[in-house]
Amino acid sequence: MPSPSKDAPAPAAAAPSPALAEMCCEKGIRLTWQRKLILSVLSDAADHPDAEEIYRRAHRKDKRISLSTVYRTVSLLQEAGIVEKHNFRDATARYERADAEHHDHLIDVESGRVMEFQNEEIERLQLAIARKLGYRLISHRLELYGVPLKSARHKKHASQD
Ligand SMILES: [Zn+2]
Repeated sequence: MPSPSKDAPAPAAAAPSPALAEMCCEKGIRLTWQRKLILSVLSDAADHPDAEEIYRRAHRKDKRISLSTVYRTVSLLQEAGIVEKHNFRDATARYERADAEHHDHLIDVESGRVMEFQNEEIERLQLAIARKLGYRLISHRLELYGVPLKSARHKKHASQD
C-alpha cells in the first residue's frame, strides 16, 4: 500500500496518478485539493475534455469546486507542462495529461470524437524533414480531420466528384 501523505486525507477518491503528482512536485506545484481533484479527473479521462466537462466531472466528485477554479487551474497546469491543451477545429480548448505516451489525433468532424494514434513512419518522416531543413525536432503536433467513410456527408462529397 502506498504510504499516505502527511497532509490530511483527501476526501473520496480525488487522487491524481502518481506520475502526475510527481510531475507537480518536480515543477514546484503544490497539490491543493482543487488541483488534486482536477488532476484526478484528467488521470481518469480516456478522452479530451474541455474545461466545462472537467468541471462537470470534478463537481461530481467534490461539490466545492467552481468553474472559474477549473479554468484557472487548467491554465496553470498547462503553463507548467503538466496538462496539454489542444485547440482542435471546434475551437474549444480541450485538455489531456501531458505525461501520456506521444500520440497524434484524428478528429471526426461530424461527431467531434477524437481518436489517438501512433505511427512510426510519420514520426521518422517528421524527424527527417526537420533535419533536412536544418533543425533538431523537439516536438510536433499532427491533427487529422475526417468524416467517417460510411457517413452520408462523405457519400455526398464522393458523388460530386
Ligand atoms: Zn490525446
